[in-house]
Amino acid sequence: MTKNKKIIEKTGDPREDALNDLFSESADDTMVITEIPSKGKFYSDFKGIEVKPLTFVDEQKILNAKDANLDIVSKLLEKTIDGVVVDELLSMDKMYLLMKVREVSYGDLYDFKVTCPACSTEINTSLKLSEHLNMTQVPDDLEDPRKVTLPRLKVEAEVRFPRSREEILLSDTDEIHKNIYRFVVSIKGNRDPVFISKALKRMHIQDIKKIVSEISKSEYGVNPRFIFQCPECSHEETMAIPMDVSFFSVS
Ligand SMILES: [Zn+2]
Repeated sequence: MTKNKKIIEKTGDPREDALNDLFSESADDTMVITEIPSKGKFYSDFKGIEVKPLTFVDEQKILNAKDANLDIVSKLLEKTIDGVVVDELLSMDKMYLLMKVREVSYGDLYDFKVTCPACSTEINTSLKLSEHLNMTQVPDDLEDPRKVTLPRLKVEAEVRFPRSREEILLSDTDEIHKNIYRFVVSIKGNRDPVFISKALKRMHIQDIKKIVSEISKSEYGVNPRFIFQCPECSHEETMAIPMDVSFFSVS
């Protein structure tokens, strides 16, 4: 996609030419990814995603961000990826791309601390991220929106994926209950949002759970896990790889 961008043209400005010359032999760390959890099925005109390393300035902005409401992950992806609109991303792809940005920026090795759940000792851990991605891609026939049969009402509903810009609407249990109707396109053919919202309030918990699981499709995407073995007490447990702010800094 960008393999030819290293062709250096004379700009006529001696300083610019000298700068271009200085960086002409430096390795191009840009990575082009075509395999993502959603297979790009739900983005218009998907031809792959280009992932660039974070710059030092971007890294500092992220580490120093004070505003907790700021979606740092989206900001970061806007600076580093090309080929898809960040606001439109599905969360399964967002997580995967985040790990790829880290890989092109800092390399594959990730050092972090884990507190042993058994003896509370803090253990320094080092993992090759690419070996722990565990990506599950969506099947080719998955659609968005898609139909789901409600187990109690025994009628069909249509649901759709939340996009990155809508994640704020599903940030906790309260928000999920308040906003879930936005991701239900129709119930028994009825597309009226007020009808849908009222129907959801009266629905059996089994039907609600079915809808929530169908909206999130959390079985697809990446599930970065590793087997933790405590050197102190030899406790063993499968754990999630922590994705906090240290994920984007190399100490
Ligand atoms: Zn332990």
